[in-house]
Amino acid sequence: MTIMTCVIVGGGYAGIHAVTSIRKYVGTKLTKQALRIILIDKNPYHLRKVLLFKPAIGEEEITIPLNKLFPEGVEIVQATVTSIEAENKRIHFQDNLSKEHCLGYDILVLAVGSSIRKPDQAQGGIALSDIESAREIRTKWRANLYKAKSEKDMALRSELLTIAVAGAGISGMETSAELAHYIRSDAKTIGIDPSDVKIVLLNSHPRLFQEGPAKVGRALEQALVQRGVTVKHENKALKEEGGRVTLSTGETLSVGLCIWTLGLFPNPFIKNLGVPFTNEGGVIVDSCYRVKGLQDVYCIGDCALIIDPTSGKPDGKTCKEASAQAARLGRIILADRKGGRAPSHKSHMEFFCIALGPEQGIVWLRRWGMNVTISGRLGWFIRKWTWDIASLIKK
Ligand SMILES: Cc1cc2nc3c(=O)[nH]c(=O)nc-3n(C[C@H](O)[C@H](O)[C@H](O)COP(=O)(O)OP(=O)(O)OC[C@H]3O[C@@H](n4cnc5c(N)ncnc54)[C@H](O)[C@@H]3O)c2cc1C
Repeated sequence: MTIMTCVIVGGGYAGIHAVTSIRKYVGTKLTKQALRIILIDKNPYHLRKVLLFKPAIGEEEITIPLNKLFPEGVEIVQATVTSIEAENKRIHFQDNLSKEHCLGYDILVLAVGSSIRKPDQAQGGIALSDIESAREIRTKWRANLYKAKSEKDMALRSELLTIAVAGAGISGMETSAELAHYIRSDAKTIGIDPSDVKIVLLNSHPRLFQEGPAKVGRALEQALVQRGVTVKHENKALKEEGGRVTLSTGETLSVGLCIWTLGLFPNPFIKNLGVPFTNEGGVIVDSCYRVKGLQDVYCIGDCALIIDPTSGKPDGKTCKEASAQAARLGRIILADRKGGRAPSHKSHMEFFCIALGPEQGIVWLRRWGMNVTISGRLGWFIRKWTWDIASLIKK
């Protein structure tokens, strides 16, 4: 029996689901070849990126060691992949001691994800972009609470107790709702009136939730307002300097902290890897995730530009899309190895879950032309269930 080596680069949502799907389809159904799976990530853990707001409000752990997710049958390598030598089916990578290595593959899956948009340094504030920045946000608002407690100047006190969240996508809404709940509860504990804490969510669009119906946008706004978040539409934050946020309307807002939640763009690193990419930076693949012009190389998740061949619609950068692509990938690779017909990409159904603080959430989906909205505790349970499924906590 020969050995077939499958290297998966990236232990994010796409990468971990690719491991599961390739094991399930390719590992069990190719009888003449034993499958060796190697998962490479620059970190030794899977980062639950969608929960980045958690370390901004408390101590919750949002990483899972990759060797805990895959205790057997998968070789985990902590390293940064630096280039692909597709003609010789080899990749090059650097381990965490900066030592260079080279590894041959039969199948290569790229799932190196995306980067979080940050403003220029001169624009001030803190971008919620990784665990360190989330902790920095937490340190800052906690320090501001204590300063506000002893501040006699009312204007300065109010500034210390105001936080602007710039960017009102799903991450901005979830972050604002969690901050409003936890900061108000900490304020109460130290003797500050919780209603003195102000969270202002700055939305550059005319309404929330551009991804779905206006009605759901209104329901989200109402839920946020109930939790103490003020939503300002058509107000783009331009910069924060010395506690003043300048808005696109010309107004300024006095704040103790400005947090940027500006969305994602494909990992810029792919430009160095020797794979074809679009102007926006997404890897060019066909409808079966095969990288254009490179034999046995596949790409899924946030770093790929994946288009539904029937509707022409590109996939978004979300976990549900990444996980669904990964689930299909196992069957695609099996078909490619056996010479059969590989399943083509299909867009995921429209489905969004938004957490709105502890035990509250809204789920919206559209199926067969019908809109379904679930809110309150049930919405939150579904939200939590999707977070857990995405990180293989529930299978
Ligand atoms: C704050 C925030 C909130 C979000 N909220 C939601 C949400 O509510 N719902 C939703 O569906 N989506 C949400 N998203 C989007 C979601 O996180 C992404 O769509 C998802 O992470 C994509 O998975 P991925 O595996 O493609 O990429 P990633 O999760 O980015 O994983 C990529 C992996 O590749 C590794 N890597 C990168 N470069 C290299 C290299 N050169 N060598 C080795 N390893 C490398 C990284 O370390 C990482 O582990 C959110 C994103 C953010 C940032």
